[in-house]
Amino acid sequence: MKKYGIMGGTFDPIHNGHLVIANEVLSLYDMDKIIFIPTGTPPHKFVKGLTSSFHRYMMTQFATMTNPDFDVSDIEATKSTVSYTIDTVKELTSGNEDDKFYFITGTDAVLDLPTWKNTEEILSHCTFIAVNRPGYIVEGLDKKIKAITDKYGGEIFITMVPQLHISSTDIRNRISTDRPVKYLLPETVEQYILKNGLYKEKKEK
Ligand code: ATP
Ligand code: MG
Repeated sequence: MKKYGIMGGTFDPIHNGHLVIANEVLSLYDMDKIIFIPTGTPPHKFVKGLTSSFHRYMMTQFATMTNPDFDVSDIEATKSTVSYTIDTVKELTSGNEDDKFYFITGTDAVLDLPTWKNTEEILSHCTFIAVNRPGYIVEGLDKKIKAITDKYGGEIFITMVPQLHISSTDIRNRISTDRPVKYLLPETVEQYILKNGLYKEKKEK
């Protein structure tokens, strides 16, 4: 039996917060691999202004290049239609019934689970690992998470990982206002952003 961690996200751009949580979960749960899956057209995200899935996929590749236990899947990025997590999870798990799949999210994302398509079915395919995220200290998190599993079944673990107060939104804002992003994300990703002129025009809140 192999253990896989699925790390889904828009990764616009991928940053050290993502990489640290993935590596910590890999080690804590003794996983074989973490699979990073940049979204194509995400159903939950305001799509306007999202960088092309090609660039987001490339940045994810560069960011994970030096870690043999990190893989990147283009399963969502190459789809032109809206990708739902349930479809991705089914595609990854089918034919691999002997393996165990975990879905890693921050505490901000895990509480949205009830709004995802086919929550119950997603939870039947993979165990969730919710990691603490600075800025998203949720009061009564245990209870809120228990309410989700009481209603939809499955398992959600809360896991403490080193806290990095980094978000892609902040990185985009920094780039658009010429503030430094060094040490917030891998140097290769920073170079890729510069070379392709990404985030120069996009100032957001
Ligand atoms: P954005 O600001 O564009 O929403 P983001 O930094 O939240 O970007 P996403 O691609 O939306 O990055 O996140 C993918 C997953 O990583 C989500 O489950 C999110 O909760 C988690 N995550 C992102 N940054 C951190 C962080 N610094 N600590 C813990 N979890 C994080
Ligand atoms: Mg986010």
